[in-house]
Amino acid sequence: MSEQTVWGSLELHIHPDARSVVRALAPDEPVILNRPHAAARAARFFVEKFPGKSLYAVKANPSPELVRILWDNGVTHFDVASIAEVRLVREALPEAELCFMHPVKTARAIREAYFEHGVKTFSLDTIEELEKIVDATTNDSGERARNLRLLVRLRVSSEYSELSLASKFGCDLADAAELLRVTRQHCDWLGVCFHVGSQAMTPFAYVQALERVRAAVAEASVVIDVVDVGGGFPSDYPGMEPPPLEDYFAIIHRHFEALPIAYNAELWCEPGRALCAEYSSLIVRVEKRRGEELYINDGAYGALFDAAHVEWRFPVKALEDDLEQPLQEFAFYGPTCDDADYMKGPFMLPADIQAGDYIEIGMLGAYGAAMKTGFNGFGNAEQIVVEDEPMASLYRGDRVDPRASDNVVSLR
Ligand SMILES: *Cc1c(COP(=O)(O)O)cnc(C)c1O
Repeated sequence: MSEQTVWGSLELHIHPDARSVVRALAPDEPVILNRPHAAARAARFFVEKFPGKSLYAVKANPSPELVRILWDNGVTHFDVASIAEVRLVREALPEAELCFMHPVKTARAIREAYFEHGVKTFSLDTIEELEKIVDATTNDSGERARNLRLLVRLRVSSEYSELSLASKFGCDLADAAELLRVTRQHCDWLGVCFHVGSQAMTPFAYVQALERVRAAVAEASVVIDVVDVGGGFPSDYPGMEPPPLEDYFAIIHRHFEALPIAYNAELWCEPGRALCAEYSSLIVRVEKRRGEELYINDGAYGALFDAAHVEWRFPVKALEDDLEQPLQEFAFYGPTCDDADYMKGPFMLPADIQAGDYIEIGMLGAYGAAMKTGFNGFGNAEQIVVEDEPMASLYRGDRVDPRASDNVVSLR
């Protein structure tokens, strides 16, 4: 245990569910529960049903075990955003195709990615970044790279998403045609990409963005080899139940087909959340109760960043057998000595829950486990594999699109 990192150690013993973990270990610290079968199912769903290629956006959860599960289930391309993510995925998956999709990179990171890790695909949203990529991939004899695959990131609206990605990155439509034309001269293969924001609650988000792609491409009149619709595919949380993903795929496909691009142009997407939200949940313990507030042992600086900072409601379940009272609303305090370590919820739990009781918090595989810090000495969390179903799922077949006969993917 002395080598334990902020990630905790990986307990290889497999448990049926959270209750059995609590019974066996009565853990003093939070425990992350991973469900490889849920990530595998999500991967197969995208691989089989998205009408193009699905890249996994590694930042949503950079666990090496997870990227291997996705690879084993057909995900071959990975969207990486830092040199550390490039190294991590390259180490876990020597044959994976890595796409460096952060539009602001350092020259050294680009150089290492290109020359040491075989990365050829980069995104950019300015001429300066294009120049940086071209310079950093020029070899010592002054020869320019001939195999670059460059994607110009367009700024699009985040109005249909729960978390905006609209203000930071992306080239404005007014500058897009010029940037596309200049970029075309430096690459073997040119694409357009965007990100509609995370947890896009309607497929219409992509329609609007693809309209912008159409305008940019029409004005630039250059050959486009790939259109990458980014991430934003939702998962299922209390109060945020999205339409079936098939609706997103169908609408994206229809609008992609209508674009003025090469007949053999590829369609890509970069799901983060949708591929891994169902992968993990978390066991926490109530350390103190004050009225309707529960002081638990994980929080804003742990896996519950989004619960604290954007008031995300994650599903919860009490793990004690002897709680009998009806559910009522609770808020959580995390363990650190910071007032901001507060999660408003509401989280629905039995009214007689008390200090010492355990709770499972679901749907934390995306931007949960990945955001844990060691602040105030509370970073530890053991990781354990469990076999039960996640608290919600877009892939289980119980949310059947009435127009499609099934949304279950094959079990291997
Ligand atoms: C974060 C990110 C993603 C993944 O977004 P989700 O909303 O988790 O699907 C995809 N592409 C880029 C460029 C990102 O920054």
